[in-house]
Amino acid sequence: MRGPLRGLVWLRAPVCWRSVSAMAARTIAHRIDNVTHVGDGGRSAPVWNPATGQVQAEVALASAATVDAAVASARAAFVSWSEESLAARTKVMFAFREIVHARAGQLAEVICDEHGKVLSDAAGEVQRGLEVIEFACSLPTLTKGAYSDQVSGGVDSYTFRQPLGVCAGITPFNFPAMVPMWMFPVAIACGNTFVLKPSERDPSASVMLADWFAEAGLPAGVFNVVHGDKVAVDALLDHDDVAAVSFVGSTPIAKYVHGRATANGKRVQALGGAKNHAVVLPDADMGFAAEQLAAAAFGSAGERCMAISAAVAVGSGADQLMELVDERARAVRVGPGRDAGSEMGPIVTPESRDRIVGFIDAGEAQGAEVRVDGRGLVVPGHEDGFFVGPTVLDRVDASMDVYTNEIFGPVLSVVRADDVDEAIALINANPYGNGTAVFTNSGAAARRFVRGVHVGMVGVNVPVPVPMAFHSFGGWKDSLFGEHHVHGPEGVEFYTRAKVVTQRWPESGLPGDASLDMPTAR
Ligand code: NAD
Repeated sequence: MRGPLRGLVWLRAPVCWRSVSAMAARTIAHRIDNVTHVGDGGRSAPVWNPATGQVQAEVALASAATVDAAVASARAAFVSWSEESLAARTKVMFAFREIVHARAGQLAEVICDEHGKVLSDAAGEVQRGLEVIEFACSLPTLTKGAYSDQVSGGVDSYTFRQPLGVCAGITPFNFPAMVPMWMFPVAIACGNTFVLKPSERDPSASVMLADWFAEAGLPAGVFNVVHGDKVAVDALLDHDDVAAVSFVGSTPIAKYVHGRATANGKRVQALGGAKNHAVVLPDADMGFAAEQLAAAAFGSAGERCMAISAAVAVGSGADQLMELVDERARAVRVGPGRDAGSEMGPIVTPESRDRIVGFIDAGEAQGAEVRVDGRGLVVPGHEDGFFVGPTVLDRVDASMDVYTNEIFGPVLSVVRADDVDEAIALINANPYGNGTAVFTNSGAAARRFVRGVHVGMVGVNVPVPVPMAFHSFGGWKDSLFGEHHVHGPEGVEFYTRAKVVTQRWPESGLPGDASLDMPTAR
């Protein structure tokens, strides 16, 4: 056993995933060197089942020593993994893809039990993550370099990209499988090794993925999972052997992670929070727009960074739109995620539920009109679950707390505007710039909107414009700190660095052209 790993507790037995909800009081352990690792017996945190309101497990919270063990494992593995052929790396990626594809339902169940989202939504999350693994299977094509023949007499030049070393990922609760999969498949396919610190609120999906990656043939140490809170995060941000940090979470923590890790000389991409506006112009199909708005606001109980949380109803269509939105909001079937009849599940924790209810209270007190009220919702048979029903607040203005804060719950705030320019100005004045959408039948208005908004991802009659894996995902302004978006071409760039080689192989001895002048091509 290598030095930093001594004295820590290791278990060789694989974790049983068959019945997560039946395993109350179990401890969710770290995964280091392809081995289950219960840490150094220190702190832990509860993992809720949000649908029942019960604690279903404890998750180990890593100390700096446990993080150090994971980084040491990844550092040691980098030596050989970065030297593996493209063919060997790709073979593991394809095998991993097959396993995740075959067991997607199992992964969705784990997400549903810890996060609370409904099974069909969790399956969608798994699918979007799987697409990044598929993208990573094509890495040999994406990492092909560039070659210039004869840049000068007898001189050729080529560029290629090399991996960085140990990369760290720190991820949020709301996509416990997809967001980690935005990162580690691309990083690892590029030849890096990886330490993932998933959200402590729903940590099991990451461990499951690490088990499956090992089963696919990934060598020990290439992908490690440490659970934890600020202690683990800070240990990663300060670790000399971590070359790059990918973070996704709320804006204050994204800013903090970016500042601290860049000060430590690391490459950083830190994706933050959001306040996504959907603008409905008077010429839009109001029935279509209302359906789409409600789905985008209440899907996953609004706990999506691309959820629509603010609607801008423009001009004369506003009253009709609001009636249709109300109707759809009232029709949303709220219940436990495991129930096939549920369209929307509970909120992740009791603290989050209370925070959301507090915002609705504040909105009402500050003058918003509560058209649909999700407070106090009780789901029969799940009285202790953390439920909040769909909520629609009308006549919200830009000074209210419900508008200035990211609520991250099933609350749609509606602002009224006179025309498309006022709507664009409202969006551009907002500090966030993750996603936005416009509903219209006018190509000219849509084009003006697309070009005018200061937002990274824009939908035209598409309310949740999450890019496919072969494009990159990222917002602007306070929704992203750092230069690179995740996955797609920018993900490949983030996890590699370029090297340019200028070479000559003179056929008859070295030319006597040495000069103290700046070299120029001949
Ligand atoms: P969060 O910021 O609370 O936590 C994210 C990660 O940071 C977790 O792993 C957590 O353990 C860690 N963390 C929390 N507090 C910390 C601290 N003080 N110091 C160091 N690390 C800390 O976010 P969350 O509540 O898990 O997720 C929801 C947030 O994530 C929302 O703001 C949402 O918009 C955002 N999000 C953004 C995107 C995006 O692509 N921009 C995607 C998903 C989620």
